[in-house]
Amino acid sequence: MGYVLVRGFGTAAMTTPALLDTFGRPLGDLRVSVTDRCNFRCRYCMPRERFGKEHEFLPRTELLTFEEVARVVGLLGPGLRKVRLTGGEPLLRKDLPQLIAMLTEATHLPVALTTNGVLLPKLAGALAASKLTRLTVSLDALDPNVFASVTDADYGVDDVLAGIDAAVAAGFGQLKINCVVRRGSNETEILPLARRFHGTGHTLRFIEYMDVGSTNGWRSEQVLSAAEIVERIASELPLEAVDRALPNDVAARYRYRDGGGEIGVIASMTQPFCGDCSRLRLSADGKLYTCLFATSGTDLRGPLRAGKSDAELTEIVRQVWTTRADRYSEQREQLIMPKRKLEMSYLGG
Ligand code: SAM
Repeated sequence: MGYVLVRGFGTAAMTTPALLDTFGRPLGDLRVSVTDRCNFRCRYCMPRERFGKEHEFLPRTELLTFEEVARVVGLLGPGLRKVRLTGGEPLLRKDLPQLIAMLTEATHLPVALTTNGVLLPKLAGALAASKLTRLTVSLDALDPNVFASVTDADYGVDDVLAGIDAAVAAGFGQLKINCVVRRGSNETEILPLARRFHGTGHTLRFIEYMDVGSTNGWRSEQVLSAAEIVERIASELPLEAVDRALPNDVAARYRYRDGGGEIGVIASMTQPFCGDCSRLRLSADGKLYTCLFATSGTDLRGPLRAGKSDAELTEIVRQVWTTRADRYSEQREQLIMPKRKLEMSYLGG
């Protein structure tokens, strides 16, 4: 395939060279969106007035089948370090544990899942049986009123907490809990969340609110910086910085000085990490995107369904990655923003 020879990330890392883009960034992570549907209507992601009853989600025939996803993952697997399933809400995709089992069998890669957690009481056992490696649960508030105002969903915070308990009971042990912080919305939840997960073994990760998509009305004043988040927590629960486990990890890590575990902060806005970005995204309808801020993708579903060979499909991915030149977050000040950006729920968060 004409690889540039550097160490790959995957289980076959010793023998499989990584693909490098135009800035020398290796392809390491594949994020697969399995559906663009969600059972939440988070105001910053899928606001109800834009994702109401009349919104046309992708028809089923346009979604990649499990076999198609497994084929793509199987082709890329040897050079990758992990695959993450996301969406939309990935647990809404029927029989998802079956896909996970196919992926873990096809690649032996760690397979992770990001979910809002409310379907975990029903599905955690099947997910554990499918050999899902890691679970990340999104939780933006503990206060029921704040939770309701952020998520605009038919579920409450207790449903997410029950999901976390179900995941632990099914054997997932230590989870990552993601909280997107928006100034003036859920910033009051930073400390309650820190107290709630301190000493539990779960790693709470705070994410700066990003200007993804064009339906959420993002404004820069709504961004609360990672530095401020750390400061607020440390004022009550003293913290010290810890080295990142791997250079491509997006979260900066801190541990509680009292031994109560760790938190992470993802400073996508104030300290963009494009230089270390190793992520390729596969949308639910089979398009490849190299950036959350991409305006167009490369279709893989057409070639998959046209009977292209493994070599031909691999060449498409190689072309996409080796010609990659985006570093949107580092350039956002200089760039003229496209009028219509793709939505996180479609690209896969
Ligand atoms: N439904 C699943 C969930 O809730 O985790 C997976 C998809 S969701 C799009 C993935 C993550 O993206 C969530 O943690 C969500 O909070 C985050 N997210 C969505 N829009 C965001 C934005 N504008 N800035 C930062 N994070 C965002």
